[in-house]
Parts: sequence; structure tokens; C-alpha cells
Amino acid sequence: MNALVAVGPKLSIVVPVYNEEAVLPTLFKRLYASLDALQISFEIVFVNDGSKDRSVALLREQFARRPRETRVVLFHANFGQHSAIMAGFSYARGEFVITLDADLQNPPEEIGKLVGKLAEGYDYVGTIRQQRQDVLWRRMFSRAINKLRERITPVRITDQGCMMRGYARSVVNALNHTREINTFIPALAALYAMRPIEVPIAHEERHAGQSKYSMYSLIRLNFDLITGFSVVPLQLFSMVGMAVATLSALLVVYLAVRRLIVGPEAEGVFTLFGVVFFLIGVALFGIGLLGEYVGRIYAQVRERPRYIVEAVLEDDSEGRFQ
Ligand code: UDP
Ligand code: MG
Repeated sequence: MNALVAVGPKLSIVVPVYNEEAVLPTLFKRLYASLDALQISFEIVFVNDGSKDRSVALLREQFARRPRETRVVLFHANFGQHSAIMAGFSYARGEFVITLDADLQNPPEEIGKLVGKLAEGYDYVGTIRQQRQDVLWRRMFSRAINKLRERITPVRITDQGCMMRGYARSVVNALNHTREINTFIPALAALYAMRPIEVPIAHEERHAGQSKYSMYSLIRLNFDLITGFSVVPLQLFSMVGMAVATLSALLVVYLAVRRLIVGPEAEGVFTLFGVVFFLIGVALFGIGLLGEYVGRIYAQVRERPRYIVEAVLEDDSEGRFQ
């Protein structure tokens, strides 16, 4: 091997893996083939996020087959996709780093396109999925969250959901210095980037296995996105609070005057109930929202590690880059 390898490969691919035994064999075949075709030095950092199926065994086999180009980080438990990617970043040594889902929704054959843009000097290559192949509710949900994010956060990305993205070393270093526990990597990277660009890429159906995101975990993830990049929701509540307080002050004055002129009245009780229930709902939502922020502050101040690595499979024969 040439001297370049000793100081790290040109390209690192980071792949989070959580219960993906059904797709891994095909992923290995297509991913290594498309990287070999690029003819640059590369490594693939697989991060096993506490899989309970045969994924680890398959990753070990693949490591044995291609030890020079393969590194496997094994988590001690399930810490979530974004933590897995952060771990991948801290182990990746490449000048360019590309993240990829294991499920082949983003074709590995598109990697060359991203590498091309990174080589041109862009430090963040975002992607826009062409003909997105996901179920309808997922597409509608994404569209709504995309709109909300555009309005209330400083993050400007067209398609936040797609994880196949390219990052230059400078951006990866900045990400590695970020100590946020709950984060959303593409958004964070877009903020750190100085020369971002977006490219359209193909999108396929999940090759096999099932999506790891339920409606619930998707909502949790998107709370990370919104609360992590904006306090507008909290400010909105102070505005709503002010508006309601002003309106009710006017109502009190009006009712006091009526009491003096018309005398005691009892009609319209149900209208009043309606208004009160609505306001209680708004208040509860506000408390919940406050809780989202407070919970994240709590997670942050505890300073527990973002993930715990049980073992790393890597080939040391070339001399490790520190
Ligand atoms: N993933 C992970 N940890 C998790 C959930 C998912 O590492 O807790 C990985 C998963 O193996 C896949 C990627 O994150 O490589 C994206 O997951 P998935 O395809 O299920 O998400 P979707 O495409 O439905 O958004
Ligand atoms: Mg997927």
C-alpha cells in the first residue's frame, strides 16, 4: 500500500447498523463494488448500534474479508442513529466523510457524485431525494416538518430526512467538538459548513427489513431538530400568552360594565367552557413544550457519555493514524 494509507484514507464511509441482517449481505456487495470502482483509498466505518440480530456476526465476517478497508465499532447498547453516526465521525480518518444508511435506500452507486463535489472544494454536500420511495404518511410528515424548520430555525436545507451526505474534514472536526447530546447531524453540519451545496440523488425502497422509526420515534427525533436549533416555540408561547392576557383583560372590563348596567347574567356558560378548555389545552401544550427543553437541558447537564463502545474491530498493521 502507498504512504497515503498510513495517514488515513481519502474517503471514509460511515454506516449506522441496527438490526439490519436482512440487508447487510447486499449492502456489502454493492457498497464495496462501488467504492472499488472509484479507485481512491477508502475505509468503511460500520457502527453497530446494539443490534439484537445477526448483524454483528455479519459485520465480523465482512471485517475478516476486507480488514484493510473495514472498521467496525460495536456499541454496548442501542444509542440511536445520530449517536452512531457521531461515533462513526470520531473514528473516521478520511479527508472526506460520507454517511449512508444501511438499508440501501440511498444507492451506494451515488457516492462518486458526492466525492466529486467534495473534491471540488465544497465542505458539505447535502442531498435531495428524487422520487422519494416512502409511505405516504412519512412523506407528508416530512413535508410539514421541513416547512416548520425552514420558518423557525436558521437551518437551510431542502431535504432534511436523507442521511446520505458528504462532509469535509473541517466540518467533521467541528462536529466532533460538539458536545450536544440530542442532535440532528445534517442540520448541525449545514450550520457549520462554509461552502455547502446540494445534489439530487436517487432514492429506493428499503431493500429488506423494516424501518426502525415509528411515528413516535420520528416525532421525538424532530423535537430534537426543532428544539436544538430554535427557541421560537417558546417565544411563540409568550406571544400567545400576551395576546390571551390582553383579550381576557378586555373581557373582564366588558363583563364588569355589563354587570353594572344589565345586572346578573348566566347565559353562555357552554361557550365559556369551550373557551376555557381550549385555553387549558394550549397551556398544557406549553408546559409539555417547556418540558422538552428542560428534559434536554437535564440530559446535557448530566454529561453521561453519548454512547459506550464495547469493542472496535480494525486492522492495525498499517499503523494507526492518531
Ligand atoms: N439506525 C440505528 N439506530 C437506531 C435506528 C436506526 O443505527 O436506533 C440505523 C439503521 O440501521 C439504518 C439507519 O439508521 O442504517 C436508518 O434507519 P431506517 O432506514 O430504519 O430509517 P428510515 O429510512 O425509515 O428513516
Ligand atoms: Mg431507511
